[in-house]
Amino acid sequence: MRSLSIFGATGSIGESTFDLVMRQGGPAAFRTVALTGGRNVTRLAEMARALQAELAVTAHDDCLPALRAALQGSGVEVAAGAQAIVEAADRPADWVMSAIVGAAGLAPGMRALRHGRTLALANKESLVTAGPLLMATARAHGATILPVDSEHSAVFQALIGEDIACVERVIITASGGPFRDWTLEQVRNCTVAQAMAHPNWSMGQRISIDSASMFNKALELIETREFFGFAPEQIETVVHPQSIIHAMVGFCDGAVMAHLGPPDMRHAIGFALNWPGRGEVPVARLDLAQIAKLSFQAPDEQRFPALRLAREVMAAGGLSGAAFNAAKEIALDRFIDGSIGFLDMAAVVEETLAQISARNGLGNSPTALEEVLAMDHLARHTADDAVRARLEKR
Ligand code: NDP
Repeated sequence: MRSLSIFGATGSIGESTFDLVMRQGGPAAFRTVALTGGRNVTRLAEMARALQAELAVTAHDDCLPALRAALQGSGVEVAAGAQAIVEAADRPADWVMSAIVGAAGLAPGMRALRHGRTLALANKESLVTAGPLLMATARAHGATILPVDSEHSAVFQALIGEDIACVERVIITASGGPFRDWTLEQVRNCTVAQAMAHPNWSMGQRISIDSASMFNKALELIETREFFGFAPEQIETVVHPQSIIHAMVGFCDGAVMAHLGPPDMRHAIGFALNWPGRGEVPVARLDLAQIAKLSFQAPDEQRFPALRLAREVMAAGGLSGAAFNAAKEIALDRFIDGSIGFLDMAAVVEETLAQISARNGLGNSPTALEEVLAMDHLARHTADDAVRARLEKR
């Protein structure tokens, strides 16, 4: 029987993973080692009972009593705190889903790789903040990373059986989000609810807003570079409003292989869960005659400066991805709590990168987790200062 753990089980990706695992037999087909969550302990406990998990961990110490009460009599062990989540990755599991949101997902994923596990990687921040370290750790410990971001799963699938040396370019698609056709002035004054209203995908709050600002696509450009090792100039993005083609790979003979599928994350999760084979996944089947039209347009870097910043990060290398992601997380927090406007997010990230580059430098490629965490810490403080400075100017 295969064993598995799900980190970030109570989130959007975690729920879809749980759904697929239950459909494929649940506790009769899988031994569930650990499930982790944050504040939603009621759901975490339900999932742990349904999968007969060995361990359930909440990220927050103050949530432990509620989790313990919800799992009383179930035989499921409980624990709390960031360190307990990392230690949950020490428990042997064949397949590990990394679906915590943000830089908090890095440490448990790294720990799972050190044990040589197969890591289904939804947490894109891991590759953005610590790509070279993550990939080197996987190689050193014989671990496998399977990309779960839909674009990267698509590239991965288009490359099966191909010679990577023959790849000329990779094109990842972007829906354009809810503001695709908005003017700069309209975008400037948008609300959190408007930024969360993604036209095609149903996702967690943070990634939905990142999609509206194109910070999500910016993270994905860097993720593509780090995971597949393509040069930045080989990686393109194109706006494709229907979200049917997730990515394309262009080869040296001019052929382009496209991966198509409905905008449903269970597709990419199911691929990772059934890899190296394929299994039934309950997603809608494409009806191309009904879709009728697939359209494309160039991204607008003036309205969406995140894409330009991603190119700068890829050019700078070192720890710039960790600084970029941390500054973006702070800017996103401050947009969500109403302190800054939508367009201020990119300005805060740009200022943070410029200040760190001028004062401290953006560092060398990381060789240890501590280096990444130190840059993350510095960038969060610098971004906080940048937000404060903007508020004082008002
Ligand atoms: P959600 O916000 O829906 O869920 C995040 C999960 O992480 C929840 O289980 C949450 O717990 C938990 N969590 C939050 N903060 C912490 C923390 N500090 N420590 C430990 N656990 C924490 O996110 P998504 O599922 O949307 O995204 C997860 C990851 O997958 C992200 O990196 C995202 O970029 C990536 N991704 C998501 C896609 C999607 O369609 N949603 C598509 C492709 C990639 P709780 O809710 O209980 O508080």
